[in-house]
Amino acid sequence: MRITAVRERTIELSSATRNSSISFDAMTASVVAVHTDARTNGKPLVGLAFDSIGRYGHGGLLRERFIPRLMAADPGAYSDGHGGIDPHRAWAVMMKDEKPGGHGERSGAVGMLDAALWDLAAKSADLPLWRLLAKRHGAASAGEHAKIAIYCSGGHYRASNDVEGLCDDIRRAIGQGHRRFKIKIGGASLAEDIKRIDTVFGVLERGMALAVDGNGTFDRAKTLSYLETLKPYPIAWIEEPVHPLDFDLHRDVIAQSAIPFATGENLFSRDDARNLLRYGGLRKDRDLLQFDISLSYGIVEYLRILDDLDAHGWTRERCAPHAGHLLAMNAVAGLGLGLAEVAMDTSTLFGKLTAHVPVSDGSATLGSAPGAGFEQLPMFSEIFGDLLN
Ligand code: MG
Repeated sequence: MRITAVRERTIELSSATRNSSISFDAMTASVVAVHTDARTNGKPLVGLAFDSIGRYGHGGLLRERFIPRLMAADPGAYSDGHGGIDPHRAWAVMMKDEKPGGHGERSGAVGMLDAALWDLAAKSADLPLWRLLAKRHGAASAGEHAKIAIYCSGGHYRASNDVEGLCDDIRRAIGQGHRRFKIKIGGASLAEDIKRIDTVFGVLERGMALAVDGNGTFDRAKTLSYLETLKPYPIAWIEEPVHPLDFDLHRDVIAQSAIPFATGENLFSRDDARNLLRYGGLRKDRDLLQFDISLSYGIVEYLRILDDLDAHGWTRERCAPHAGHLLAMNAVAGLGLGLAEVAMDTSTLFGKLTAHVPVSDGSATLGSAPGAGFEQLPMFSEIFGDLLN
C-alpha cells in the first residue's frame, strides 16, 4: 500500500471559556486525511485524524516536515509486509533526522499522522480501532462492542451567572447519563472555588464523583491551602495543580495530599512520562496518569509509555488520557485503560466530536464500525469533506 496524498487543514475551535491558565477564544486544531492507493468495501482507503485540544493546530510542522517525509518515503519503508501500512514503521520514517529530547510541538504533529495511520490500519483490517488495538496490544477477549468508564469534563469559568450556569451544566450531564464530573479550580479565589464545589456537590446524586483541575498554575503555598480546604470534601482527584514539569514540587505536595492526584496531560513524550514516574512521587494505588495520546506522538509512543508504566509497577487502570476525542476513547477501550474523558459542553465543535457516542450510567459504548469512528459523526462532511478529494 502506498500513501498517495496527505491533506490537512486548520479549523477554529474557538470557545468563550477559560480555565485558570488560558482562554479558548483563539484555539485551533488540525484535521488530517491520509490517502492511499488501496480500496476497502468498494471505497478508497483513507485514514483520518482530528487533533487534541489545547495546543493549537499543527499545520506548519505537518506541511514542512512530517507530510513531506511520508510522501518521499519508499512504500517499502512503512509496509507491514502484508500489503498494509505499519504505523510503527511509518513513525520511524516521520522521525528520521529528528534529534532526541526537546520535543516541542512536533509530538502533536506526528501524533496526528500516527492517529490517521491507525484509523487506516483499522479500516484496512475491517475492525473498529479499539478492537484492532485490543487484538494487537490489549485485552484479547474484546467483544462486538466496547463499554468504557468515562468522566465528564467542564466547569470552566463564565463571565456572568457562573455558578448557576455550572449547575445547569452538571444537571444536563446527569440527564445524559454521566456519573463522574470534573470542574476547574484556580480561576477564581479559593472562597469562590469552594462555593462552586460546594454547590456542585449539592447537585450530585448518591454514588457520583467530582474531581477538580488547576491547570498547572498553583505555587506550593496555594496548592497546600487548597488541599487543606478541600479536606472535608470527597474529591475524586485534584488535577495538575502545580506546573506540569516541576516533578520535585509534585513529590512535595503529593506527600501531603490525602486526595488522589492526576497529572501528565502536558508531558508529550515517553521521556517526560518516565521522569514523572521516577521523580514525581505519584502513588500507584490512587493517582492518575493523563498523558494525551494525540499530543504525545500518538499510539506508537503511547505503547512505549505503557511498557514503562509496566516496568515501574503501574497498571493500565491508572491511565486516564487527556481530552475527549475518539482516538483516546478507542485507546481506553482497546488497551484496557481506566477512564476516558468527554467534554461537558457539547455545543462546541470539540464537544460535538464525542457527543454522538451513547452514554449510560457513567459508561460509553463504542460501536463496531471500522476505524476510529469519524464517519459516524453527524458533522463528518463539515469537518472532513474537503480533505477527502
Ligand atoms: Mg486538565
